[in-house]
Amino acid sequence: MTNTPPPTNGKIRPISRWGTPILHRAVREVAPADLDTLDLEALTADMFTTMFAADGVGLAANQIGVDLKVFVYDLTDLKGQRSWGVVCNPVVETRDGPREGRRHHAKGEQHQHQQQQQQHQQQSMTEGCLSYPGVSASVARARAITVRGIDQRGKAVEIDADGLLAHILQHETDHLNGVVYGDHVSSEVRQRMDTEYKELESKPAYPEDWPVTRTKRRWII
Ligand SMILES: [Zn+2]
Repeated sequence: MTNTPPPTNGKIRPISRWGTPILHRAVREVAPADLDTLDLEALTADMFTTMFAADGVGLAANQIGVDLKVFVYDLTDLKGQRSWGVVCNPVVETRDGPREGRRHHAKGEQHQHQQQQQQHQQQSMTEGCLSYPGVSASVARARAITVRGIDQRGKAVEIDADGLLAHILQHETDHLNGVVYGDHVSSEVRQRMDTEYKELESKPAYPEDWPVTRTKRRWII
């Protein structure tokens, strides 16, 4: 990450919705040859520009119909700390908490201890998705993670994240593996989301080519 802000001079591209096949299968890894033959600089500029137009904090390449493991993100947390970047071929590793004292526990206690530890390592947060705009749901994910990959120039990237940033990085990595957050929720929650989405679809809030076309915002006073 550098101190310069991410590019905003790309093209705004339409964002694919859940149900589009490219969002429900793993897309292909960026190969070393791609760094020379594909204009990943232009692709990531388009992705940042599209994400900003949609008021998003993360966007995966397959959300704009591109079959490549690339995502971008940009989050300013409540303390004003800005984190942004590009990750190609992301791999998420959950960071474990301390494991001390386990061998002194009886078998049953050990099992309980592990369960508590696992619960401790998960956190639930409300998520939304630019490919299913207007609805949200609570999703449990690993609390602290490390993401490794390369940037659009092939340089190694390693990001330690927790809290909301950890959720975003896992959400985007999931996208590139064909998983959407609706796959993580119960069937009852998914039904509620689908109903809300259908209601929204009948209104002009999110035109088919959103965010290329955006309906005018009304000031609410
Ligand atoms: Zn998403």
